Amino acid sequence: VLPCVQVGGELGAESSKLSGKRRAPGFKVAILGAAGGIGQPLAMSMKVLHLYDVVNAPGVTADISHMDTGALVRGFLGQPQLESALTGMDLVIMPAGVPREPGMTRDDLFNINAGIVRTLGEGISKCCPNAIVNLISNPVNSTVPITAEVFKKAGTYDPMRILGVLGFDPRKVSVPVVGGHSGVTILPLLSQVKPSCSFTPQETEYLTNRIQNGGTELVEAKAGTGFATLSMAYAAVKFADACLRGLRGDAGVIECAFVASQVTQLSFFASKVRLGRGGAEEVYQLGPLNEYERNELEKAKKELAGSIQKSISFITKLT
Ligand code: NAD
Repeated sequence: VLPCVQVGGELGAESSKLSGKRRAPGFKVAILGAAGGIGQPLAMSMKVLHLYDVVNAPGVTADISHMDTGALVRGFLGQPQLESALTGMDLVIMPAGVPREPGMTRDDLFNINAGIVRTLGEGISKCCPNAIVNLISNPVNSTVPITAEVFKKAGTYDPMRILGVLGFDPRKVSVPVVGGHSGVTILPLLSQVKPSCSFTPQETEYLTNRIQNGGTELVEAKAGTGFATLSMAYAAVKFADACLRGLRGDAGVIECAFVASQVTQLSFFASKVRLGRGGAEEVYQLGPLNEYERNELEKAKKELAGSIQKSISFITKLT
């Protein structure tokens, strides 16, 4: 275990910087995959940290500890230190694994990240089974069901505490994004945008495609030099902050997340959720959909069903 570095201040997450709200007190947060493109800026923005990675955790921990943010930072390197990193955590944020390279499909990602997420999930279910888990590792449509299966096997499954983070971060405009986290499974409900506005069919089609392909757009724009890291880390900080405000007992904390669900016939589905001490304490229905959205929903459900089934088989075939 790397030295614990305290730069003053209380043990808590920095929720004031981004949200302008009061700091959530006393919660312990672990980041798994802390040395990565998302993990590092995410670590910079949170305050109490157990930083775990299979590489470079000491360097990132030292770097973060040189910031006068009142942070208590500890670094943990490699599998033998995973349990120490996780014990006693209230929130575990997981951007561990590989990101999508140009030309890679989310199925290619599955083959690499499924095993990583399973191992880390086993650690969480053992060392901090009551923690809220924020899954960033892709493909989120699969990593959430995999983690759920791991928790079920461990006998510690609480469906409302395992939340897939959707990397959308409109600051002033609120667009419910439901369904899942890849291509056609991402369904922005533009008819429910706040502040309300209307779109022509062409605009709806264009915006829906842009939102569905935001990740690919970034991968292409960075031309092989990077992925959606900064914007995703920013979105992850906002989502973690919302989870911590929920844990503190704040009312009306609502975000979209990919979670165990009865909103459709699928066992996992992304929709608006109300975050509280128990994780996603309320999972909201989709609300009224227009014809375009109803059609898109059918496409999303078809593809999602395959991802969920594949994830469940991935765990059950190992038993
Ligand atoms: P990255 O390669 O920069 O970082 C990943 C980190 O995970 C690395 O530091 C690596 O050492 C670490 N890692 C690998 N195996 C590990 C293990 N077994 N235990 C702990 N750490 C391990 O990648 P990135 O750009 O930070 O992306 C991380 C993940 O987030 C990818 O799967 C990516 O596809 C996903 N992502 C999700 C969203 C979203 O909206 N949910 C958006 C962007 C990226």
